[in-house]
Amino acid sequence: MSAIVKRIRKMFCLEDGRMPEVVVGGVKMLNFCSNNYLGLTMHPKIIEAGKRALEKYGAGAGSARFISGTMAVHCELEERLAAFEGREAAVLFPSGYMANLGTISALCSGSDAAVICDRLNHASIIDAIRLSGAKLLVYPHCDTKKLESVLERADKYGFRLVVTDSVFSMDGDFAPLKEISRLCREHAAMFMTDEAHATGLLGNRGRGLCEAEGLGTDDVRVKLGTLSKALGCAGGFISGEKELMERIRNTARSFIYTTAPAPAVCACAIAALDVLDAEGDGLRAKLNRLVQQFRAELGALGIPDFGSRSHIVPLVCGTEEKTRLLAEAFNSQKILATPIMYPTVPKNGGRVRLTLTAAHGPGDIEKCLDVIKANKHLLKKEQ
Ligand SMILES: *Cc1c(COP(=O)(O)O)cnc(C)c1O
Repeated sequence: MSAIVKRIRKMFCLEDGRMPEVVVGGVKMLNFCSNNYLGLTMHPKIIEAGKRALEKYGAGAGSARFISGTMAVHCELEERLAAFEGREAAVLFPSGYMANLGTISALCSGSDAAVICDRLNHASIIDAIRLSGAKLLVYPHCDTKKLESVLERADKYGFRLVVTDSVFSMDGDFAPLKEISRLCREHAAMFMTDEAHATGLLGNRGRGLCEAEGLGTDDVRVKLGTLSKALGCAGGFISGEKELMERIRNTARSFIYTTAPAPAVCACAIAALDVLDAEGDGLRAKLNRLVQQFRAELGALGIPDFGSRSHIVPLVCGTEEKTRLLAEAFNSQKILATPIMYPTVPKNGGRVRLTLTAAHGPGDIEKCLDVIKANKHLLKKEQ
């Protein structure tokens, strides 16, 4: 084994894509760690759209977007995404990771820039800032007082960008977007938010936490979303004013120097937006009922919510050993749940991160709670 690789992580290999029950090594297991939050990956209308696009466009796009890789389906998806977000324009990337990488480095290139970042932001944001060469300034998680003092000190930089996850991926809590946008306005900083875990889920129409908080393009200049979580497909996108989007499209290296996303996946994403319009209310209501049920029963057991306000439920154990034991307890009861440890989460913040989806049923939640009840001693008492 290479001495460089300090941690070898185990991967489960799923034998098909069904939800919520997956097959691992011939054994059926309940999946409680998928980001397929609305269970759309197997939706018949989405699969049908993908099949039709495969016939028409083929398996791959054959080229980068600025060469000959832009097909009608890419243009249509970008238009649909802009309309979905209620913004002037959208730019599609092959993944959310690449959307962050390209967007942040495009915004910061060539200027003396500082990017101001919540301590718990997603790795793709941190990698993007490193790649951009901008100064990285970090504030404690959701601490707007500290953010304000960082902004005051950052006045010396020519360009200031504040970036935060809207729903935090490992904790399921919400960023105080309104207050952050107010501070950005006051300090003439640009505000960007990453809605990867909120797209399709929050707000009246599933447009994310910005919709829920009534924040528009003036408040949040760049809004990032992913097609790979609640929408059940693959790809990332940003949306905002046309001019800014065109500037990013023309300078983001992870947009320019890669083959266009597979056309069939784009057709699936368009169908997923249709499904969201037609069935989103019902799916979100179902997921919310499960979240309420789970939360109420955890509360009755005296288990803290560790700050989560969403379908992402962190079961914080602290040490690596306890985290592993809890994950093993789930697995022994045929529940797929993976331990999440440093450096993905802070040291001593080891946890089993459960995700509830609209594909689960009340009985699945009960099975999960049984494991938690029997292993309560492994959980941290408070946040
Ligand atoms: C998952 C995630 C991404 C990356 O999205 P992909 O489409 O999976 O590459 C970006 N930001 C956040 C906050 C995420 O959780």
